[in-house]
Amino acid sequence: MIRVAVSGAAGRMGREVMKTIRRTENMELAGAFDIRGEGQDVGDLIQSAETSIIVHRDLEQMLAAARPDVVVDFTVPAAAGDNIKVILRHGARPVVGTTGIDAGTLEEVEALAGQLKTGCVIAPNFALGAILMMRFAAEAARYFPDVEIIELHHDQKVDAPSGTALKTAELVARSRGEFHPDRPAEIEKIPGARGGRFDGDIHLHSVRLPGLVAHQEVIFGGLGQTLTIRHDSISRESFMPGVLIAIRKVMHLEGVVYGLEHLLFD
Ligand code: NAD
Repeated sequence: MIRVAVSGAAGRMGREVMKTIRRTENMELAGAFDIRGEGQDVGDLIQSAETSIIVHRDLEQMLAAARPDVVVDFTVPAAAGDNIKVILRHGARPVVGTTGIDAGTLEEVEALAGQLKTGCVIAPNFALGAILMMRFAAEAARYFPDVEIIELHHDQKVDAPSGTALKTAELVARSRGEFHPDRPAEIEKIPGARGGRFDGDIHLHSVRLPGLVAHQEVIFGGLGQTLTIRHDSISRESFMPGVLIAIRKVMHLEGVVYGLEHLLFD
């Protein structure tokens, strides 16, 4: 039985993770932490009967009371780094979905996990379909170097482009190698109309609208043909199989694994 606690328990992803843990064999929801909803029964947050697990506002207190094996963190980038370090120092293993954690924080976490000889997973995208989309896009870029990326997200997302779009652009750029497209000089009648540019000519476009969850199209153009690779997360449930894989695998890891793809393909 793996005892799992959730950090960011009152948030959209945190609630979905708690629901999932409660119906997964060999896992037990052990604790909940959030700066909102202190003292609330988790049952209220996930529309279930009372659970007798209450939301803690203090991470250290929650860890001492719940003694989890794994803590899943879906909070905000400003908090996630400190949360991860506290979790590691308490002997639990972090599985982190929070996006936008900076490189310096990642280095500190790597050093600490190495020193403590324990495991940690940080994955900016837990949707298996999105990981496959990136892999297929990298493969296609070897033959179709002309490419644009359109990512579409709900209107509460603050960062643009998405981490997944950036990662896709990086993989595509690496896979296609040196490329100099033959295009006329462009005139943007409205600044930004052609999107942001990565590696010179990979254009990234970000759409933000209510009703969307997380979607991305990678469009390749070649002579007389286009190839579109599209992934849609139509609900937050799409992230849960990936989160469960990470929870199971982090129990046997030493060091930090960054990116779900390394748990799937390496
Ligand atoms: P949300 O705003 O619904 O939830 C975030 C929660 O974190 C809130 O309840 C908030 O009170 C809490 N919080 C804020 N600061 C905190 C702190 N210092 N300590 C503890 N809790 C704190 O957001 P969300 O939609 O659940 O997304 C959360 C994060 O997960 C974002 O970074 C988002 O980009 C990311 N995300 C990642 C994936 C993935 O596959 N990796 C998928 C979806 C969302």
